Amino acid sequence: MNEKIRSTSGPFLIAGPCSAETEEQVHSVVRDLADRNLAHAIRAGIWKPRTRPDSFEGIGEVGLKWLVDAGRSVGLPVATEVANKHHVELALQAGVDILWVGARTTVNPFTVQEIADALSGVRIPVMVKNPVNPDLELWLGGIERFEKAGLSDVVAIHRGFSVYKHPKYRNVPNWEIPIALKERRPDIAVICDPSHITGKRELIAEVAQKALDLNFEGLMMETHPNPENAWSDASQQLTPE
Ligand code: PEP
Ligand code: MN
Repeated sequence: MNEKIRSTSGPFLIAGPCSAETEEQVHSVVRDLADRNLAHAIRAGIWKPRTRPDSFEGIGEVGLKWLVDAGRSVGLPVATEVANKHHVELALQAGVDILWVGARTTVNPFTVQEIADALSGVRIPVMVKNPVNPDLELWLGGIERFEKAGLSDVVAIHRGFSVYKHPKYRNVPNWEIPIALKERRPDIAVICDPSHITGKRELIAEVAQKALDLNFEGLMMETHPNPENAWSDASQQLTPE
């Protein structure tokens, strides 16, 4: 994936819904992104790490087939989040092409290690989101756990850092942290996720532009056919258009 990202002219774009909701929703957004030539890879959450227990926690295993079939039908690789070894087994069985670990997983070295061990001997790209707290070493450590398990194709995703009641962002960018990561690991592509940084679609363009000005290699954007009615992260998703 690092090679593909670097050989792509312009930023590498990963797009798709926060969560897979229905078969029709997944196929519709994937078709639309492909028709408009807007994505190099597709994302969709199958298992969602939600802050409060009564939120939609992801459609689960059944959605893996929707995602993989939709990706295959347009010839684009598909990515989903894995947060334990059971997710890894199911995602690999279903044929998911790229895995990512979320910000709430990267904070926990035991969980990252469990996922890395479950992937030992598997050749698949892994994207590691920054931890929710602004800790460069923890982010690097998560990346290294995958590398030590033999996964040589690791990409970093910058999705911002938690703070209490920020007036502008859902997660503050702290640009110096991904910049430092790039300095420490120039071999690793860094993709910016302006959807989770901003939490609001109106701010996505300015944050995406800033990331590109800083020479980030790509963007991950949440896109939904009908963002206002999304089952998760409604205020930050865009239509493919
Ligand atoms: C997501 O990508 O939908 C997600 C849950 O992101 P994060 O881990 O960055 O919160
Ligand atoms: Mn989301």
